[in-house]
Amino acid sequence: MWWKEPVTSIRGIGAKKAADLAALNIYTVGDLLEHYPRQEGYADYSRLKTIGELATDGSKQLFKGTVYCVRDGFNGRLRFTVVTVRDETGYADIYFFMGQRFLAKKYKPDTTLLITGRVKKGRTAKHVGDASCTVIDADFEEGLGIIPTYALAGNLTQKNMQAWIKTALAKAEQELPESLPDSIIKRCGLPDRVSALKNIHFPASWQELERARKRFVFEELFLLQCGLLYYRSRNQQTRQGLKHGVDGEKLQQVIKNLPFELTPAQKQAWLDISLDMQDVKPMHRILQGDVGSGKTVISALALAKAAENGYQGCIMAPTEILAVQHYETLTNYLEPFGMRVKLLTGGMRAKERRSLLEDLELGLVDVLVGTHAVLQEDVHFAKLSLVVTDEQHRFGVEQRAKLANKSTYAPDVLIMTATPIPRTLALTVYGDLDVSLMKGRPPGRKPVQTLCYTEEKRKDVYAGLVRQVQAGRQAYIVCPLIENSEQLNARSAENVYDELVHGYLENIPCALLHGRLKPAEKDAIMADFSAGKLKVLISTTVIEVGVNVPNATLMVVENAERFGLAQLHQLRGRVGRGTEQSYCVLLTPSDSPETLARLKVLRDSDDGFYLAEKDLEQRGAGQLFGMRQHGLPDLRIADILRDTEIIVQARNIAQSLMKNESDWQEMLGFVKMQLDDRFQMIFNI
Ligand code: ADP
Ligand code: MG
Repeated sequence: MWWKEPVTSIRGIGAKKAADLAALNIYTVGDLLEHYPRQEGYADYSRLKTIGELATDGSKQLFKGTVYCVRDGFNGRLRFTVVTVRDETGYADIYFFMGQRFLAKKYKPDTTLLITGRVKKGRTAKHVGDASCTVIDADFEEGLGIIPTYALAGNLTQKNMQAWIKTALAKAEQELPESLPDSIIKRCGLPDRVSALKNIHFPASWQELERARKRFVFEELFLLQCGLLYYRSRNQQTRQGLKHGVDGEKLQQVIKNLPFELTPAQKQAWLDISLDMQDVKPMHRILQGDVGSGKTVISALALAKAAENGYQGCIMAPTEILAVQHYETLTNYLEPFGMRVKLLTGGMRAKERRSLLEDLELGLVDVLVGTHAVLQEDVHFAKLSLVVTDEQHRFGVEQRAKLANKSTYAPDVLIMTATPIPRTLALTVYGDLDVSLMKGRPPGRKPVQTLCYTEEKRKDVYAGLVRQVQAGRQAYIVCPLIENSEQLNARSAENVYDELVHGYLENIPCALLHGRLKPAEKDAIMADFSAGKLKVLISTTVIEVGVNVPNATLMVVENAERFGLAQLHQLRGRVGRGTEQSYCVLLTPSDSPETLARLKVLRDSDDGFYLAEKDLEQRGAGQLFGMRQHGLPDLRIADILRDTEIIVQARNIAQSLMKNESDWQEMLGFVKMQLDDRFQMIFNI
């Protein structure tokens, strides 16, 4: 297959150019063809203006200019870099701020740039903001309709890329089999593969470009869904599912003995799970509930159901603190009824660990609670029937599979998430998955009052902190860093701790908690805080996940601007767990309107789903939710947020395709026809 050949098989690409291409992750001719132009980078040369012609009404426009000079400036608040460009008709100043400045500084005089940006009137030259620039060759051909621009590296030029891709396209025209079933292409009205490739690189028109994009977006998402379905079906087919009985005596006692009554949302979730567990088909369910919605008790019931039926259940948590907490809760709920709950963590003594593992293998343990330690090779269960992962956004597909594979049967799988994952993301990442949603919180809790303050209020905040402690409450102070850093200008936990123990908190028992402490030290601190011996915890985000101390009523977040909204919401969920009014104070040294606007979104909303969506909008799915982190291939053209409708469509089609064996086999053949091996791996898990 010619597209698997190295790029050096194309004339004009030698070792040096190949090295530059490698920096863009382009190794084969296929990779080159999949190096799609930047979405905003298509230039319509019939519309290109001279600088003199640019309207100064703040609208976004496209033009070409030669770099004249580059200089730095300061507007009293922010540093910026100005790149002045010119053509025969005039000058324009392009302004860059923050991280963009670094790029701008690389533009050498006399290089030609293709610029899009908002143009306004300036003092001496036209003022261009919100700009994005691409280096182009001075003799860049004009009048050719829509021209792509590509991401470049090293000494590559746009002209190089265009020429090489044209060569590769010529090969494709001679021989490139279709990679989607004919029926799907017809049904969805997609263009064929070769013309889509041509049009995504050198569009015949904007409409054709759109159609080409849609095809490749669909193809990526379709392959991803097929892969996930396939992966799941294989895991089901090879092992038999287990059937749990209807809720028996023990389970009813556990429920009766809970310190509270289940909310309607909890009852519904429990019903969903209970029915799934009674079915021989393995459960594959995600329980989504905002922080504090009371998911733990639901997992406790599911684990009790496994135990009641003579099986074992396992719950895996992402941190030691959380595992310990679950262990305590589960022990309280389940041990009175004869169920044996054990804890397995990384820091255990060898002897203790060995005896625990023996008991586990002999079936003397009913419920195992643990961290990643439960995934270790030598952990064997006698009859594992239920696997629960808590706060799963920290676990990948493979880790979950590894735990489920510890059973000779296909166990029921329950995934609990507190970081609400927007539905489209859930579909993408988990494929075929049932969802139980718990909206709202258990009764009797007041919403946390959230306040945004800049530096000058710091003293008031500390005074408030002392008042809370004097009233018998507890508090958290969360910092973005453990210790001071030269690169990052942010307050560190160590620094804040030192300051406060010699100041406001002089006679108040408090402790410093962060991820670099030994697990035993962390546990001791958390235990003392839970018991009320410590009044204030100064910590990093190690407390982000799941920690439950109802008497804590105040959380102060330092440098709140450094955290994402979803993360801040998660942190805020650590307070407001009791009946007292709780507060979350977001401190920030920044007075930039964007930062304050972002923090106000958090101040004004308590809806984790809404905040997660906002976060995605602001930071992009990639950052918040790396595909790789989940053991999935990167998406090159699809955008999980933008392409929601296509995700749903791709999933439906994948599902129906799978029902027909010959269609499915055809589809598996197509996976091998892809230009690269990205998707192959999910089919191999
Ligand atoms: P999360 O969903 O964030 O994991 P938890 O399971 O930690 O939430 O529950 C938060 C708190 O709410 C715990 O203190 C728990 O005991 C309490 N809780 C759970 N369900 C109820 C209920 N139905 N009524 C009252 N309190 C409840
Ligand atoms: Mg929890």
